[in-house]
Amino acid sequence: MLNITTKIFLSVIVIFFTFTLNANEISKERIHEVLQNAYNKYKGDMGGHNAKYIHALAVVDPTIFGITLVDKNGNIYEIGDTKKEVSIQSVSKVFTAALVMSEQGAKFVQNKIGVNATGAAFNSVIAIEEHGGSALNPFVNAGAIQTTSWVKAKDSKERWAKILANMSTFAGRHLQLNKDVYTSEVHDNKRNQAISMLLDAYERMGSDPLEATTVYTKQCSLNISAHDLAVMGATIANHGVNPVTKIRVLSSQYTPKIMAIMETAGLYDNAGDWLYDTGVPAKSGVGGGIVAIVPGEFGIGVVSPPLDKYGNSVRAQLAIKYIVKELGLNPLAH
Ligand code: GLN
Repeated sequence: MLNITTKIFLSVIVIFFTFTLNANEISKERIHEVLQNAYNKYKGDMGGHNAKYIHALAVVDPTIFGITLVDKNGNIYEIGDTKKEVSIQSVSKVFTAALVMSEQGAKFVQNKIGVNATGAAFNSVIAIEEHGGSALNPFVNAGAIQTTSWVKAKDSKERWAKILANMSTFAGRHLQLNKDVYTSEVHDNKRNQAISMLLDAYERMGSDPLEATTVYTKQCSLNISAHDLAVMGATIANHGVNPVTKIRVLSSQYTPKIMAIMETAGLYDNAGDWLYDTGVPAKSGVGGGIVAIVPGEFGIGVVSPPLDKYGNSVRAQLAIKYIVKELGLNPLAH
């Protein structure tokens, strides 16, 4: 039996450690408050324009604005139109790259596709030519179409089924195809077809280039909300385990690799400024979604269709920058 002095001493130690550990945690009230402030601050910001080069994106409601934050324990904080869906577009590139990394390894992605910034627009053809036929990274169109082509499958039907299942597991629900966006984009993706043919000429493709482009276009046309993006991001933040469903989607050895590419190329030719301002790995899509990750802690998903000249959502960037600053989440500052 412990004497009373020892008991008191042990209790003090327990209280001390509990307090010290919790001292670094941000309270739920504070997170709600900061999300609310971000929403109020930027809701009326009408900067930017919907993507026009895909007709179905030009007609999406530009006022949609939703912010969701999911922590590593699956707690959800959200405000605004967080269940309104837009097409995932380039944010999908993250999850298919994760799938190919799982199947073929991190070295394969580095050697075959590349993990460096292009310094050029997301749909640049010149960047491929200037780099000896390399797409440079899986988050520009060239690298993403190439990534899709390397998903192991007997045909494009199976390839699509695997990509859909993978993204749905990241999101923790069965994602649906936005048929309007798909139809609009699949009839107007000659540039991406040209990119895929060029890469094929450089012997970089894993399957038929035009088929891979069609599967890639489908993956870009999946509907997601700010809520979905935050859960998907939180899964990477939580070392590959979806914190809501508790299902492992990706090995923890690959999450730092995926986040490294997000830092290098997630916001295309503006990735440097983004990293400088926020320090968080992120990925944008021309549908208006951005997912940002605070490693080991949070996924943040924001949807707002109007884009800047780089193809990144204006309000999503503003909201994430604000949240990261107010909650002190810049991982490079820790
Ligand atoms: N599907 C779009 C395209 O191929 C994706 C681009 C993006 O979101 N940046 O052009």
